[in-house]
Amino acid sequence: MAHAFIGFGGNIGDARQSITDAIVCLAQHIQIHIVNKSCFYQSAPVNAVGGDYINAVVEIDTELNPYGLLYVCQSIEHQFGRERPYANAPRTLDLDILFYEGIEQNHSELTIPHPRIAERSFVILPLLEICPDFFLPNHGPLKNLLPNIAHQRITRITCKHCDCDQQLH
Ligand code: ADP
Ligand code: MG
Repeated sequence: MAHAFIGFGGNIGDARQSITDAIVCLAQHIQIHIVNKSCFYQSAPVNAVGGDYINAVVEIDTELNPYGLLYVCQSIEHQFGRERPYANAPRTLDLDILFYEGIEQNHSELTIPHPRIAERSFVILPLLEICPDFFLPNHGPLKNLLPNIAHQRITRITCKHCDCDQQLH
């Protein structure tokens, strides 16, 4: 059993509903166990066009190997109508493997940890919410990266389970 973190994002259609439903899809997989999930966040696109994104991060335990997990993530994207007309295009749903316990690799098909964690508030904030001591290989404690992304517009969205509607930056 390995520990992993998956990042969710979308900015076409009802992305909040898509992410909610996609997390249910992930949870239904027999070899994936949801350990924790962050609140939803609304963020400005980074190096991309289109409307604001909705984002979340989920912590899982899984018996799948990294490529098996990637296949499941891409199948879920496909179910939700994901198209890839060009790089960083607006999307109904994006699932990225952010971290997979014990794996550090740099392959174009699958880079772990995800290569752009350090520059994205929409990954760092939800990840720190559910794992405040997250250590990012080759960077150090994730919380130390907060000053680098302080200029990026992001808001945690109110949800009925917690008091989380404050502006973060
Ligand atoms: P992006 O998420 O970078 O905007 P895509 O979702 O279209 O772009 O993914 C492009 C490719 O990135 C995928 O075909 C996948 O094989 C590859 N990839 C490399 N590393 C990862 C990762 N950690 N998680 C998900 N996809 C990855
Ligand atoms: Mg992706």
